[in-house]
Amino acid sequence: MKAYTLPAVLVTDPANVFYFSGFTGSPGDGILLITLENLWILTDARYTLQAQKQCLNYQILGKSALDITSLGNQLNQLGITKLGFENETIAYAFWRCFTDKHPEIEMVPINNLFLQLRNIKEAEEQHLIAKACEIAVDALRETVPFIAPGISERDIALELEYRMRKKGASGPSFDTIVASGERSALPHGVASDRIIKAGDSVTVDFGAIYQGYCSDMTRTFFVGEPSSLLLDVYRAVHKAQLTAIEQFKVGMSSCELDRIARNVLAEMGYAEYFTHSLGHGVGIEVHEGITIGRKCTTPILPGMTFSIEPGVYICDLGGVRIEDLVLCTQDGLLNLTEGFEKELAIL
Ligand code: ZN
Ligand code: ZN
Repeated sequence: MKAYTLPAVLVTDPANVFYFSGFTGSPGDGILLITLENLWILTDARYTLQAQKQCLNYQILGKSALDITSLGNQLNQLGITKLGFENETIAYAFWRCFTDKHPEIEMVPINNLFLQLRNIKEAEEQHLIAKACEIAVDALRETVPFIAPGISERDIALELEYRMRKKGASGPSFDTIVASGERSALPHGVASDRIIKAGDSVTVDFGAIYQGYCSDMTRTFFVGEPSSLLLDVYRAVHKAQLTAIEQFKVGMSSCELDRIARNVLAEMGYAEYFTHSLGHGVGIEVHEGITIGRKCTTPILPGMTFSIEPGVYICDLGGVRIEDLVLCTQDGLLNLTEGFEKELAIL
């Protein structure tokens, strides 16, 4: 705030509200007013006790998260005439109402300033993400015996989510993807009623949320002997994923890392079937901060946690994706999901 000469900022994005205060109420039911000297949370009576417990050092302000009158009065009382706000995510109705009522307060867009902070994980955050990964790895190990002809994708997802919760997850970090047979050509094929058949490839992409932090990983299995083309696709994706991890260097730009994996797939004839970015930042949100993609020049620095997930998707045949969640340290990458092997597995 000092660097941006801002005497106060308003935090409205639920992930940022959690990041700064620890508040876990429903999205939109708590917003923060942060000044150089004080911390306030605007919330309603349903969350007062919760906010007192979770948001240490915060005072409760107003009657609800939308209490614009109390917010304006507080700023006037403090003599604050300049307020930073999250222009990319603030609700238009809130912004409109506040600026109409308080034209004396200059609203300063801060763009993705908070995401830049969240990109670099502190030790405590790294620990929670590693724990979320451990839960996911253990749950997958227990779920693999269920992946067999006759079971539906949805039942596999249920087994996985049940086990993650039993191990301490508050829930899945996104709708669990179980994409089998020709559906595995859908990069984001959320589990359906499709029944697994012999010869299918089954892509399982999932994560756990542990104390507010997400994990994300993918493994692709074969149920019975797959076609020789699918076997070749698996080898290519596996090689691309391993090569990207091996050739990573601290400080390299994200597009360089993306290129390493893409080049391996190109050499093996599958470049056109790798239709998404190599990876993304993971933390409070399963997609946050950095993108490891063709056009991203952001350097990858110690403290960043991100996925490395090349995939090949061939219409009417199927697809393969292998995804690990890694932490960049001073000495290179720490693979947080390597506890689950990724060598070709025919179940
Ligand atoms: Zn994933
Ligand atoms: Zn991912």
